[in-house]
Amino acid sequence: MSTEATLLARCESKCELCSSTSSLAPFAVAPQTLITVDYAAMLCDTCRTQVESPEDMDVNHWRCLNDSMWSQVPQVQVLAWRQLTHLSRKGETWANELLDMMYMEDETKNWAEIGMDEDEEKARDVNGVILQKGDDVTVIKDLPVKGSSTIIKQGTVVRGISLDADPRLISGKANGQSMYLIAEYCRKK
Ligand SMILES: [Zn+2]
Repeated sequence: MSTEATLLARCESKCELCSSTSSLAPFAVAPQTLITVDYAAMLCDTCRTQVESPEDMDVNHWRCLNDSMWSQVPQVQVLAWRQLTHLSRKGETWANELLDMMYMEDETKNWAEIGMDEDEEKARDVNGVILQKGDDVTVIKDLPVKGSSTIIKQGTVVRGISLDADPRLISGKANGQSMYLIAEYCRKK
């Protein structure tokens, strides 16, 4: 049987998170990138989109985790744990209660945490795009430079940025001056 057929049999042709039957596709659970029976979960369109950009989560959709968090499939547990953690950080107390009840093997818990930290520790611009060393960015609003009377004007281009240990900051040169900038006040060019 092909990987996809095995996955479809496992999930009984239903999304492994919300049981929807519409537009199912295999989804490799980060940091894994391969679609294999052990790394992928079968997800519907809605779940896939929101797993990829948890900022835009529709809170009510994720009530489905109430059931799917008890799945026997490790990667489904990983996805459920991560979504519940995002929800709990948004202040959803029910998600926090489910997290407390959730049981995962140590290995599965590690998987869940690794993939999540990777997302969190990256500098992101105003649109949530991940910034990388060497990128050029445009400053999106007038910003005072700390310790001087200079203002970096909106629209200033900072070329070849560097990243900082603090993911909220980037550094670079504009108008011949080195400076730190808040990542979310920039837009990647
Ligand atoms: Zn779904």
